[in-house]
Amino acid sequence: MKNIVLFGAPGCGKGTQAQRLRDHYGIDHVSTGEVIREHIRRGTELGRSMETCIAQGKLVPDEVVIGMIGDYVVTHKEGAGCIFDGFPRTTVQAEAFDGMLTGHGLKVDVMIDIQVPEEELVRRILLRGKESGRTDDASEEVVRGRLEVYRAQTAVVSDFYAAQGKYAVVDGMGTMEEVFERIVAVIDGLKK
Ligand code: AMP
Repeated sequence: MKNIVLFGAPGCGKGTQAQRLRDHYGIDHVSTGEVIREHIRRGTELGRSMETCIAQGKLVPDEVVIGMIGDYVVTHKEGAGCIFDGFPRTTVQAEAFDGMLTGHGLKVDVMIDIQVPEEELVRRILLRGKESGRTDDASEEVVRGRLEVYRAQTAVVSDFYAAQGKYAVVDGMGTMEEVFERIVAVIDGLKK
């Protein structure tokens, strides 16, 4: 099972690239943001408890996402691998993730950080908000708040993987195709 963590600030293109990588490598794709939005759409109790966090652009509690990913790992541990998109987003999540994978004889192979300058991120997210109707993409204030959350809580997660020699940076500017090729070059360069 090849496990790839796709990393980067909101708007860097993680979701789009994750879907293409899923098709290219025939492995799974899990987006914690999508799982949470699905809970909200279905009106589950968990969904209702997370609605305010999402709307305000804050992270949902670690134990909630750790539980979601824990369930996923248990049911997919025999699979070919997965692109984790939007998880882990805190060091607590990264440590818990390592623990659960190790418990099943699995590991993260690489974290790929897609880097895009901040003003471009804001531009892309506001554009996406117009098309997708995602409420947390619609207001510049919430978008800038999410980027601040990323800087304050999430960016450090890269240190966790860098310390294990599993961290790669990819330039997220250019066409979707160009960025895709850069990511594929990193994954294909991994030792089997
Ligand atoms: P995304 O679709 O990845 O941009 O995530 C949208 C929102 O879902 C985030 O702003 C958070 O509120 C929540 N979320 C997604 N993944 C996580 C995570 N790993 N930890 C905490 N909150 C998350």
